[in-house]
Amino acid sequence: MLRPALHLPARAFKQCLPLRFSPLRHLTSNSSSSSQSRPLLNLPGYTTPDSFLEQSNTAIKECTALRSDLLNSVNSDDKNGTSTSSSLLLNLHRLDTISNTICAVIDLTELIRNVHTSPVWRSKANESFGILYSFISELNSDQQLYDCVKKIEEKGVKHFNYEESRMISLLRSEFESDGIHLPDEKRKEIVNLKNDLMDLESEFQNNIIEGRNIYAVHSREIKALNFDGGVLEQLRGHLGRTVRDEETVLTTDNYFTSSILKYEPSPSLRRETYIQSNTVSPQNLLVLSDLRSLRHEISLTLGFPSHSDKTINDKMAGNRTNVLNFLQTQMSSTQSGYKREMEILTDKKFELEGNRIIKPWDIPYYVNICKENSTVTNMDYSEYLTVSNCLNGMKNVCGELLGVSMFEEKVEVGEGWCESLIKFNFSDKDEGNHLGTLYLDLFPREGKYNHAAHFTVRCGCSYLKGADLKSQKPVVAVVANLGSGDGLENSISHNEAETLFHEFGHAMHSIMSRTKFQHMSGTRGPVDFVETPSHIMEYFVRDWRSLKEFAVRRDGKVIEEEDVKEGERIKGMFKNLEKRQQTLYSEYDQVLFGPTVMDDMDSGVILENLHGKYGMPYAHGTHWQSTFGHLNTYGAAYYAYPWAQGIAGNIYNEMSKVGLMNRESGEKFGSLLRPGGSKDPFQLVEDSLGRPWSGA
Ligand SMILES: [Zn+2]
Repeated sequence: MLRPALHLPARAFKQCLPLRFSPLRHLTSNSSSSSQSRPLLNLPGYTTPDSFLEQSNTAIKECTALRSDLLNSVNSDDKNGTSTSSSLLLNLHRLDTISNTICAVIDLTELIRNVHTSPVWRSKANESFGILYSFISELNSDQQLYDCVKKIEEKGVKHFNYEESRMISLLRSEFESDGIHLPDEKRKEIVNLKNDLMDLESEFQNNIIEGRNIYAVHSREIKALNFDGGVLEQLRGHLGRTVRDEETVLTTDNYFTSSILKYEPSPSLRRETYIQSNTVSPQNLLVLSDLRSLRHEISLTLGFPSHSDKTINDKMAGNRTNVLNFLQTQMSSTQSGYKREMEILTDKKFELEGNRIIKPWDIPYYVNICKENSTVTNMDYSEYLTVSNCLNGMKNVCGELLGVSMFEEKVEVGEGWCESLIKFNFSDKDEGNHLGTLYLDLFPREGKYNHAAHFTVRCGCSYLKGADLKSQKPVVAVVANLGSGDGLENSISHNEAETLFHEFGHAMHSIMSRTKFQHMSGTRGPVDFVETPSHIMEYFVRDWRSLKEFAVRRDGKVIEEEDVKEGERIKGMFKNLEKRQQTLYSEYDQVLFGPTVMDDMDSGVILENLHGKYGMPYAHGTHWQSTFGHLNTYGAAYYAYPWAQGIAGNIYNEMSKVGLMNRESGEKFGSLLRPGGSKDPFQLVEDSLGRPWSGA
């Protein structure tokens, strides 16, 4: 099965800072008539918005030709009994080159339709994305292509090495995930069900995007003077402080609700805000119910007991039992720590409000108060963290651990999609070989993708050009929306720095990965493994041994070890509570899409029961599940975040033991990055840890 690269968004529940929109700034001299002008991202052929359509048509033609060569070769070998190692391998590369040819265009359109400052470029990219998506769907339901895959796999058993066998077997099972191997009638049934499912999935997502409650509170309630100056200004600016008869109008936009829940002393306003923000998009309850039924029906038709079983089948975890065991371990391990942390919150609430009952809307507020109270050093990370400092930190990781030089290069006229774009090239320190290119688009503006994410544009792999194999160097982009204004010297929060390093981890996975096949390159592996390098990278903004090399204040003062330790201690004060919440959401996702889905169990009842099981406060009548997009996009795979986090923590401990900032530690990291998906993820983790990994 062929598929475009997924962009990898930052994990859920990263604190969102209020966005400051920069005015729309089109590229001033993006005209292709300029003799100096380069093509978009320096990729030949992309000089005007219409290039997308031309490149899409060319890619479709090339793939059609490759498909026909493949069919002729496989069928003639089959008929004449002439399959040889070299013809089988050539055909395997033909299959992979079909995927690479399409992805080279569709992955670029996916980036550009999300980020380009020009609506014309975005719209043309979007149009081409649609065309190529339909073409991919055609290929994925192409019976003749599937038959070739089966024949190559069958004949290849005696000839292929591990990587080649893994490639063809992954390809076959991905083809089968849409039921191509089933009798005609069943296959048609699945196609129809999948079309209905696609409609439901977009409906769910659109309801979330458009969903917004507007509510009025008495102005007396707004005691939000505890907000730090910036947040308060943002709030005032956005709200417009529509005051009518002493009423203030509020909305459930995330940047307001998260600030109010964290800083607002009035319990009744926090309660109102919590309830309003957890009752948005009520129509999604019905959509979610239909989504569960439909996913279940498709999974049963494909021979799986549930959507959860179907989803986990091709992931690192392998099966649902492993995931449920993992979540059980997570729950047990947080039991006593969670109890202790809740007692701290309860005591604080009693002190300030005179009662000990913690409600859901009390948690962010009292967590914040307890953290603020415990700050003895008054340390502010953001004094030490600027975008520019963080880029230096990334260069250190590349140089000191991975033996890779990361150097900035000018973005030429025509090459970029926005004015503030930054470009880095990477090369091998010893050999000097070019390894790949990273573009960074870090600041918010209107019309731009509004989260942080890594986008693949080209994978590091080989591909067929005529009869020869050529090497392709990775090109990737990291997109973020830092709230600091678009200056490299402006301060960013510690959370933002972590997000930036997280996405940089995905980028380095792409840049470092060298596989024979595009299908297994970089971040194209299973999501519960792919989130590991990015979580490892986050430690470089938490560990003083790394921070001391780049976290330097304007006056030259280097961040102090005790301050970092204190910062980490405060951040970790409620780590069991946070971990337990993520475990609860992961288990909810499993139950929702598990085998008992048809037992008429309402999504709200399941959520309330799970809160009971985990001993966590719940507000009856709210429906958080109607606002949680991951149930749609990550359905039954939300566990991937805590799963990968667990692996990352173990690998970091091993790197830490050997001193973190050196090549020995880097080898443990590099051995995880280079093979992409060409090795079994358990093997990769074992290679990195130096001991077997059991999965929990
Ligand atoms: Zn990620």
